[in-house]
Amino acid sequence: MKIAVIGSTHAGTAAVTNMAKLYPEADITVYERNDNVSFLSCGLALYVGGVVNDPQGLFYSSPEELQNLGVTMKMQHDVEHIDTVRRTIEATNLVTGEKIHDTYDKLIMTTGSWPVTPPIEGIGLDNILLAKNYHQANTIIERAKDAQKVTVVGAGYIGVELVEAFEKAGKDVTLIDGAGRILNKYLDEEFTTMVENDFKARGIELAMNETVQHFEGTNGSVSTVTTNSGTYETDLVILCVGFRPNTDLLKGKVDMLDNGAIKVNEYMQTSDPDIFAAGDCCAVPYNPTGGHMYIPLATNAVRMGTLAARNLIEPTMKHVGTQGTSGLHIFDLNMASTGLTETSAQLLGIHVKNITIEDTHRPAFMPTAEKVMLKVTINPDSRRILGAQIISKADVTQSINTMSVCIQTGMTIDELAYTDFFFQPHFNQPWNFLNKAGLEAQSQEPQRLPELV
Ligand SMILES: Cc1cc2nc3c(=O)[nH]c(=O)nc-3n(C[C@H](O)[C@H](O)[C@H](O)COP(=O)(O)OP(=O)(O)OC[C@H]3O[C@@H](n4cnc5c(N)ncnc54)[C@H](O)[C@@H]3O)c2cc1C
Repeated sequence: MKIAVIGSTHAGTAAVTNMAKLYPEADITVYERNDNVSFLSCGLALYVGGVVNDPQGLFYSSPEELQNLGVTMKMQHDVEHIDTVRRTIEATNLVTGEKIHDTYDKLIMTTGSWPVTPPIEGIGLDNILLAKNYHQANTIIERAKDAQKVTVVGAGYIGVELVEAFEKAGKDVTLIDGAGRILNKYLDEEFTTMVENDFKARGIELAMNETVQHFEGTNGSVSTVTTNSGTYETDLVILCVGFRPNTDLLKGKVDMLDNGAIKVNEYMQTSDPDIFAAGDCCAVPYNPTGGHMYIPLATNAVRMGTLAARNLIEPTMKHVGTQGTSGLHIFDLNMASTGLTETSAQLLGIHVKNITIEDTHRPAFMPTAEKVMLKVTINPDSRRILGAQIISKADVTQSINTMSVCIQTGMTIDELAYTDFFFQPHFNQPWNFLNKAGLEAQSQEPQRLPELV
């Protein structure tokens, strides 16, 4: 059996390492246009900020390691065409220019995503950079050396992580976003306001509700960013305005969402039975709505890559769906979210009820007890949990993983009230704040209790 894999970062590497063990007789070939595999972009801001000094730690595999598993590694090979009828691949060796023709019995599409680059006037100027792969991380580090004024466009989690890194490096940082607040896809306003206030207190300029209209340059290098509301001087711009799935190779050949994300069934199989797909090039089954969503995360990529390998010959293990669970540490604040927020529910037209509680993460008699804010989003009729968000100076983010399981298993807020969680004063309180959210939900609807006779 000939297996071709296109792309080897997280989804591809997960698929390849599993397939090499599961199907030792198979002839596996990996095509990767880059010169490395498995770069952890999640460490990019930490690397830029100097927290990670040895970039080798940001790779958990290498072409040599995969080669040693018996896999043929075609590094710096760009796949340019796939014929899904004849099951052939055309690629170019980016070093020699040589054209390669290959065939496959099974194809694993793990081509991931690429940062969106809007057609803004001046976007081609020098020092307007993207933040995705290892080479781009090194370019950012290099260019930042001579830059004092740094502008980050896009206030999603990558943008805010870079803002923190640049502020810590002593740069003058401006953060621009067309939305009214930062992190608006992950957290509701009461959470993001806390982070924004922290940013402002540190002198970071927030330009929310502003869209970039054009960049201007001096000697070919960017010098100003003009939005619909103002002009900002800058030495360096990092664009982090989202990702688009890299799926042009299969356009019109397999089913996709409108944004080009490949639709896979619960076994990671596309609408072409010989093609499996995983990671950022795919849409994922999203449990809070029961539909498909585009949620490009490394967590989804490694799970899907592993499942594509396991299900390649016959369906064995289903994808359990995702909640889009994510966490962040920005300056002194730890935050995490899973499933729907009040904002995302509104955007999707889903009627929800929200329960917010404030607590301390452990008893007041302890030397420190940090405030915690937890918000749980539920279906008001079924009372099923659909989402949760948390923020604190204490690291209580793992509780959002617990909430992710609650959503996945269809737990109600009433069951959460009485779920067994441990208590130990170092860590929490006799009533865990997750229980308290359930109790609060019940106290808001006392009529749900049976009448005493
Ligand atoms: C700065 C940053 C921080 C992040 N932080 C987190 C985090 O904290 N947690 C989290 O869960 N996720 C995080 N992510 C998201 C995570 O990195 C992605 O979800 C993950 O990289 C997806 O892996 P993938 O293998 O599906 O795709 P990609 O990482 O996009 O890799 C696709 C690979 O395919 C190759 N390729 C594409 N087309 C071709 C072709 N035609 N021929 C040959 N090769 C091709 C590419 O070169 C690439 O190596 C972060 C992303 C960024 C950019």
